[in-house]
Amino acid sequence: LESLAVAAAEGRPTVSFEFFPPRDAAGEQVLWQAVRRVEGARPDFVSVTYGAGGGTQERTVRATQRIARESSLSPVAHLTCVGRTVPQLRQVVGAYADAGVRSVLALRGDPPGGPTAPWQRTEGGLDRAIELVELLRGLGGFSVGVAAFPDGHPESRTPSQDARVLALKARAGASFAVTQFFFDPARWERLVDTVASQGVDLPVIPGIMPVTNLRQVTRFAELSGTPLPGDLVDRLEAVADDPAAVRAVGVEAATRLGERLLAAGAPGLHFYTLNSSTATLEVCANLGLVRGRLARA
Ligand code: FAD
Repeated sequence: LESLAVAAAEGRPTVSFEFFPPRDAAGEQVLWQAVRRVEGARPDFVSVTYGAGGGTQERTVRATQRIARESSLSPVAHLTCVGRTVPQLRQVVGAYADAGVRSVLALRGDPPGGPTAPWQRTEGGLDRAIELVELLRGLGGFSVGVAAFPDGHPESRTPSQDARVLALKARAGASFAVTQFFFDPARWERLVDTVASQGVDLPVIPGIMPVTNLRQVTRFAELSGTPLPGDLVDRLEAVADDPAAVRAVGVEAATRLGERLLAAGAPGLHFYTLNSSTATLEVCANLGLVRGRLARA
């Protein structure tokens, strides 16, 4: 990823933000408000998640193309193996290339039935992220990223399986990884050390989700198999009736996590914004990661 090399040469970590594709015109407006606000922070890249169904996949492609064409942000396009044949996947990649997108996060994707449903390959499609990495490397012209799981992928049996699969994806041509959100920095360090011990040099950018809503993060944590630290839950529950106080606790926890990860040598931080930039930008400001000028909320 070019922006990783640029940031490393400048002796600073990358900062990046993840969005999801809007469902309707109102959602589009919310997304673009967030896009315009984060432009002020001059992030190294942003990414747009890729949905499980045909309609949401098209919305992802459109949102990513629009960000590439109409904003100053550099999008990394998510792409999954779900619901597409190989020729259809090539078409999506072509649409990204035409919009000037130069970097793709290659994922297997969650099963259309949700993260806990059994995986099923689409007839004529691909079965694993590694096959999509190979397809993209074969087409050429893209830097390719992959997913990593500090708390383990729900289908993996052991932490060493997660590290082994990540090393395989790097050997297949991935040049960076972005992680699922997590709360214990030691888990990220263990994954990175295990991958490095296999002789693989792969920047693994930790994903951070600032908690602004306890119910929502509890649901996400259940789906992804990420343990929520008991002391964080206690602090959030103590102020549960006060949304501003909940957000303040979430921002403080995400700031501490970011500090510890950067101190441990993380190459950058990737923030799950849920299309709302306020908490994320507060965390970035606390960490000194805002490079431009932020407009008022
Ligand atoms: P894979 O790398 O294919 O792994 C899937 C499972 O198979 C894992 O358990 C892995 O250990 C196992 N496995 C893979 N290869 C081997 C092998 N050679 N030998 C043994 N076991 C193997 N989902 C979406 O639908 N859209 C998105 O936009 C999206 N964005 C994401 C962004 C990030 C940063 C992350 C971390 C996840 C994202 N996901 C997204 C979720 C992701 O698609 C799911 O977690 C999916 O279940 C696994 O994807 P993967 O790319 O890691 O798959």
